Amino acid sequence: MPMTDQLLQDKFGRVIRDLRISVTDKCNFRCFYCIPDEDIVWKRRQDLLTYEEIIQLAEIAVSLGVEKLRLTGGEPLLRKDIEFLIERLAKIAGVKDLALTTNADGLKDRAATLRAAGLTRLTISCDSLKPEVFKQITRRDSLQAVLDGIDATMTAGFAPPKINCVVIRGMNEDEVADFADFARTSGVAMRFIEYMPLDNAHQWDKSMMVSGREIIERIEARHKLVPLHKDNPSETALKFGFADGAKGEIGIIAPVTQAFCGACSRLRLTAEGNLRTCLFSMTDYNIRDRIRRGDSRDELAQFMIDTVLKKEEGHRINEPDFVQPPRTMVFIGG
Ligand code: SAM
Ligand code: SF4
Repeated sequence: MPMTDQLLQDKFGRVIRDLRISVTDKCNFRCFYCIPDEDIVWKRRQDLLTYEEIIQLAEIAVSLGVEKLRLTGGEPLLRKDIEFLIERLAKIAGVKDLALTTNADGLKDRAATLRAAGLTRLTISCDSLKPEVFKQITRRDSLQAVLDGIDATMTAGFAPPKINCVVIRGMNEDEVADFADFARTSGVAMRFIEYMPLDNAHQWDKSMMVSGREIIERIEARHKLVPLHKDNPSETALKFGFADGAKGEIGIIAPVTQAFCGACSRLRLTAEGNLRTCLFSMTDYNIRDRIRRGDSRDELAQFMIDTVLKKEEGHRINEPDFVQPPRTMVFIGG
């Protein structure tokens, strides 16, 4: 419950309920669309928000109506003692959901401690079930570690995780139905994501993107799907179950062909302490320096409120004047 009546609400009437917190810009994978293979300049330690700063900002956001926190990055499991941060965030009164998005490398040995710390949900990224294609996309030979991580999640008592799969033409679109089979046997919730123009080499073009519609057609060639209701209106995925009642779920996240900006309830906080109002924003709003110069809680809250008022109506991916942001997901926080 918010401590005040004040909510984070933008000028289009959308209320922010979901804060995505990037805890690091570092990653141990090199997904070709997200990060260069070499010559990466990481942020300096002192430029990143400390855990105390993250907790302070999360508390303010929750007092202004945020209910869901998601830790992401870069690779959040690389930030030292992330369990400590989770424990503290889980204790904030009003947090209904505390999730983490990970590439799952090393998750096998940490799923139980993450759960004990108070994490409520895990989302795991996996773009291929074929070791060679997985390696081609991530530039790491780690498919088995990811599959072990998915298993460990369920063994640790989490609900079956969501599995993010970015579908890229010529690389993995032929695996979409295999992933649906994977959902049916393991019970996971697949989330097929349209490839967005946020790529590292700025080489994205629409021909590389596989539309949500095509993804459904590819799955339905093997399994009939039935639409499921959204749990809440700001959910980004169109959800489906299997008509024959098999376990598992299919979700389509189609930011390019079926934008969901009208129901967006998100705000992002980057690892170095910038608020971002949209993945595709060209502007960052630095709140870290305001904490470090000693702004009061009320001043920080007002800065968040003012920043949300600047939230864009929607992204402009399909407009002729679209300009790709200079940074990719690893540096923004996915
Ligand atoms: N390292 C963690 C992981 O991979 O799950 C968390 C951060 S990662 C940036 C979050 C998600 O963003 C991943 O599922 C990744 O595939 C997705 N992503 C990154 N770049 C993307 C793009 N250009 N289009 C669509 N999804 C993208
Ligand atoms: Fe790392 Fe995730 Fe980006 Fe892959 S998608 S490079 S795992 S941050």
